Amino acid sequence: MTPLARLLVERIRETGPITVADYMAECLLHPVHGYYTTRDPFGAGGDFTTAPEISQMFGELLGLALAQAWLDRGSPAPFTLAELGPGRGTLMADILRATRTVSGFHEAARLTLVEASPRLRDVQAVPLATYQPSWIDRVQDLPETPLFLIANEFLDALPIRQFIRGPQGWQERLIGLRDDQLTFGLSAPLPQVPDTPAFRHAPEGALVEDNLPARHAAAEVSTRIARHGGVAYWIDYGGWRSQGDTLQALRNHAPDDPLAHPGEADLTAHVDFEPLAALAQTFAWDTQGAVLTRLGIDARAERLARNLTGAALESHRAAHRRLTDPSEMGSLFKVLAMTSAGAPPPPGFA
Ligand code: SAH
Repeated sequence: MTPLARLLVERIRETGPITVADYMAECLLHPVHGYYTTRDPFGAGGDFTTAPEISQMFGELLGLALAQAWLDRGSPAPFTLAELGPGRGTLMADILRATRTVSGFHEAARLTLVEASPRLRDVQAVPLATYQPSWIDRVQDLPETPLFLIANEFLDALPIRQFIRGPQGWQERLIGLRDDQLTFGLSAPLPQVPDTPAFRHAPEGALVEDNLPARHAAAEVSTRIARHGGVAYWIDYGGWRSQGDTLQALRNHAPDDPLAHPGEADLTAHVDFEPLAALAQTFAWDTQGAVLTRLGIDARAERLARNLTGAALESHRAAHRRLTDPSEMGSLFKVLAMTSAGAPPPPGFA
């Protein structure tokens, strides 16, 4: 049993079963034993890799998209350039490098990073040192200014609750104990559940996931964009409407039982973009492959390929495929762009 599993078993023994969201929050961000608080999980040595760690092209193209959106909105100054859950800081470093020559963009940008893990803040400080970032704990603390924001694989790490529509109504999936081991169970029927399309349209027997922190984050961002202008790009795996049980654990690059190694495995859930899009004044959404293609990834890939040979060229070509091919990340990953009413369309969409 992991040290966190022992703590959770004790807690449940004393105070009863916990929600999937409580469990996820403890596993990911427990101050001593949490997955993100104790390690840098990215890259070949870690448990998973993300688009910016696969290729510099991802950050370069999205950086130029943000800068184009800023120009299209009359180059507001100052503005907040924000990232939620910046991981190793690679995506923001690529964004800043690609936009160096956009006149006035860096001068007007106030770089703000929302990051819960002190350990990862230290990692992010290294590639971003020259840009003097400020770190904040919560999306609610974003300043009231024009906002140009990116969040890649942030929403999937936020704690979800799971509900099942049984014959007597909605019940919540809980984590309790059987023979002193963590196990899934169900709450008594609930008087009410969140009022989103996934709940309204669920047939009997369906499992629906709700990501309340994601809805809160999207509402905070959308309100600022409505007030002050700007654009937000949310990139993640998921779809339109809750997809059933998508809670998954990843440990040493391999799938794991979500209850088996609390604190030592990454826990995520697919993102339901529908209730998030509903919070925007205006939104656009498409697959990652389609958006990167419209932003010019094929031409950028060809340019970079000119300076490469042998194994480096092979791995560059593989990275291009991995980001865009429908059988890899191209269609599982989606991009939701939020803008204000009447604003120019966000770059990267038809
Ligand atoms: N965007 C990065 C990393 C994604 S992993 C990339 O694409 O590589 C998720 C990131 O979100 C990590 O930096 C993690 O520490 C952070 N995070 C997770 N939950 C958070 C929360 N509730 N508040 C702030 N940051 C959080």
